[in-house]
Amino acid sequence: MTSIEVLQDRLDAVRSGISEAARQAGRDPRAITTVVVTKFHPAELVRKLHTLGVRNFGENRHQEALAKAAELRDLDLVWHFIGQLQSKKARQVRSYARVIHSLDRDSVVDALVSTEPSIDCFVQLNLTDDAARGGVRDSELERLTERVLATHGLSLLGVMAVAPVGEDPRAAFARVRAASQRVMSIAPAARFISAGMSGDYREAILEGATHLRIGSAITGNRPAAG
Ligand SMILES: *Cc1c(COP(=O)(O)O)cnc(C)c1O
Repeated sequence: MTSIEVLQDRLDAVRSGISEAARQAGRDPRAITTVVVTKFHPAELVRKLHTLGVRNFGENRHQEALAKAAELRDLDLVWHFIGQLQSKKARQVRSYARVIHSLDRDSVVDALVSTEPSIDCFVQLNLTDDAARGGVRDSELERLTERVLATHGLSLLGVMAVAPVGEDPRAAFARVRAASQRVMSIAPAARFISAGMSGDYREAILEGATHLRIGSAITGNRPAAG
């Protein structure tokens, strides 16, 4: 298991990378939230990162996230759900996640209808032509946004995306920024952008990302899927 010292070093490296990119973009790094993605890693790693001051954690599989959140109930953590959601499971995600980054279909949005306090969410945009990838097609972005806005129990933060393999990440994130402008023309408060991972968070910051989802640069390589 990765030592506290190694985790601290990696966190420091990512934090300075964030500060540097923010400075380059003329932005305040304190306005950028780093979600540390701990998928496939044991709860123990989350506990160590918590001792180093990390509070925002991301998971992409419901069963794993549910188990980890339960095991770490004693800590003050903010869980972000970042993976593809099945409408059958969507409602259960509300029980532990504070933020859902991956709304991409009517069925998932509809499954999240609630009279409970609203959960924060992002609409995920698919930047590829592959429908199997998570995210709504670009041409459906406004329509899905309207549906989220009309749904009780959802509070829209903005747009989320993953840069496609093989596209210059800066160009991909420029497309996300343009999509964000379109969403804000319908929902002015939905000004946040969830974009940027270990390999491309600097480019994401240059294009306005407010929520980074960073895994391996902090956690190290993921153990093989169980
Ligand atoms: C795994 C994952 C990440 C983090 O990826 P790294 O390359 O390990 O930083 C970010 N976003 C999503 C949607 C993921 O599934």
